[in-house]
Amino acid sequence: MFVAELIRETREMTESWRKQGYSIGFVPTMGYLHEGHISLIKKARQENDRVVVSVFVNPTQFGPNEDFDKYPRNFERDREICEKAGVDLLFAPSVHEMYPAKNLVFVNISELGDGLCGAKRPGHFQGVCTVVTKLFNIVLPDKAYFGEKDAQQLAIIRRMTKDLNFNIQIVPCPTVRDQDGLALSSRNAYLSEVERKAALVIPRSLQAARQAILSGERDAAQIIQLIREMITAEPLAAIDYIEVVDGETLKPVSRIDGPVLVAVAVFIGKTRLIDNFWYKEGSACS
Ligand code: AMP
Repeated sequence: MFVAELIRETREMTESWRKQGYSIGFVPTMGYLHEGHISLIKKARQENDRVVVSVFVNPTQFGPNEDFDKYPRNFERDREICEKAGVDLLFAPSVHEMYPAKNLVFVNISELGDGLCGAKRPGHFQGVCTVVTKLFNIVLPDKAYFGEKDAQQLAIIRRMTKDLNFNIQIVPCPTVRDQDGLALSSRNAYLSEVERKAALVIPRSLQAARQAILSGERDAAQIIQLIREMITAEPLAAIDYIEVVDGETLKPVSRIDGPVLVAVAVFIGKTRLIDNFWYKEGSACS
């Protein structure tokens, strides 16, 4: 595995692969890798001749009072995980390498970025779209892999790719969970043992909501209320949002008629966690 800190080295390597006719799969991450990331890397490994992973904690997607400084980092461990997973190139740039000067140009998304995490984290998706655009332009992959755990991010990246004509196929990957149902997240590292147990209210409430929908509940307000009651009953949990939104537009719905995304953001102590499931007539996955 080649480790590159420079954009130039990364470009040279991916360019030589393209010249040799190799397909390139790309997995952008913020590091502190876990089985969720590894599932994306494995899928990329299966579908491409060469796999590039980026590890970059992107400052422009964090708000001023968010956790950029204390976001967990362990490059040596990430490097080992990537090596073991068969990654060909690990791109780990510094902040200065990615943003050598003040950025004057940003990529923005309207509508899809207005609700859910976009409403709670102003500027977040501008930071995400901008850094993903930069990474796409550096790596020029054939396919890029994104997790359904970050459902709004996935929808936005898909739309950005389409609207801006990136010649890249976006591949969605299912949420990987711990055995007890908690969605894997680098931020789970912040949780104390007691908080880790309390966090289980998130998958449990979503599971109950899914059951209610499968049993015929179509009133979004009822679904939201069911989740709210369960989460409120957990003293360490504080709701950031609970939403039932249209699967295409991500706008809130009152009735569950077509495909919907049921999404929550919940503080467990100081740690903000997100989770969701999709429901489509005849199938519900999470
Ligand atoms: P992050 O490092 O948190 O920015 O995540 C990098 C990529 O991994 C994103 O596409 C995430 O959606 C994806 N990801 C994070 N956690 C999971 C998970 N538990 N299951 C599947 N994909 C995940």
